[in-house]
Amino acid sequence: MKIIDILNKKKPSVSFEVFPPKENSKLADVMNTVERLSRQKPDFISVTYGAGGGTCANTCEIADYIQSRLGVTSLAHLTCVSSTSNEIRKITAELKNKGLHNVLALRGDIPKDVEHPSPGHYKQAADLIRDLVKEGGFCVGGACYPEGHVDNPNKEKDIDYLKEKVDAGCAFLITQLFFDNNVLYNFLYRLFQKNINVPVIAGIMPVTNINSIRRMTKLSGATLTPKYKAMLDRFEHSPEALRQAGTAYAVEQIIDLISNGVSGIHIYTMNKPEIAESIMAGISEIIGSEKK
Ligand code: FAD
Repeated sequence: MKIIDILNKKKPSVSFEVFPPKENSKLADVMNTVERLSRQKPDFISVTYGAGGGTCANTCEIADYIQSRLGVTSLAHLTCVSSTSNEIRKITAELKNKGLHNVLALRGDIPKDVEHPSPGHYKQAADLIRDLVKEGGFCVGGACYPEGHVDNPNKEKDIDYLKEKVDAGCAFLITQLFFDNNVLYNFLYRLFQKNINVPVIAGIMPVTNINSIRRMTKLSGATLTPKYKAMLDRFEHSPEALRQAGTAYAVEQIIDLISNGVSGIHIYTMNKPEIAESIMAGISEIIGSEKK
């Protein structure tokens, strides 16, 4: 099923993100993870794509497994910054071959010490979106950044560039992680003012461990709320307590987002199905009542 049809049919959607393993020997672990996640009956599961295409084959394989074996719609991420249009066409042919018609089209982070744009390579996600839409047969989504993208200090321009992606044919957006819902509401208002009307799915990152949250916030530039900082400070040396508090924080954040009518919730599971399960247990009745 196309993701846009899911989003048009019911609100809010609930979806998960997983990443492919760095080593092929760990592929079976990820298949077990998605199998467990599928039991939560998500609306779709997305699979990230290694920048530079390193884990590209595994992205296709996992997305295929999710859809054809587990019966859950999958969304394959695809980055373009290290690719030519010919290389991208090979991948899109493979996706279509497997019946995978949902793609999250991304630029990817620019590799260090590499000239950008490299000759013949894509420059921005909008260029990839344009090509995928022109090729046809895909429901194409894109990324957006409620606190602005780290490479662009000009938040106004960042939204203008986002509009370029939507005008290029991006059917829906998934946000970068954020910890303060007011940041998202403010962002949604700014999108509305710019006439960006596609569904925006809120990306939620639960704490799995202190190091990963520090790394992710540094990379994404997401601001920690005082409440979140206090939680990290208080429980940083007690992983189980931190996990419990982090799950409660994510549940609270999701309930507020659903109460305020977001299009969907996308949980960055970090390949930890037990965390997604705890969150789903905390919102089961809420999701159930929204489906009625
Ligand atoms: P773009 O939309 O191209 O924007 C990138 C930057 O360029 C922004 O600063 C923007 O303001 C600026 N810009 C855009 N257009 C122009 C223009 N015409 N002129 C000048 N500047 C411009 N990374 C991975 O490697 N693999 C993944 O699977 C992956 N999944 C992700 C999923 C989500 C939901 C999100 C939010 C991010 C994901 N990322 C992933 C990270 C993403 O690839 C990086 O944030 C990357 O740096 C930007 O990608 P983008 O598609 O947003 O790029």
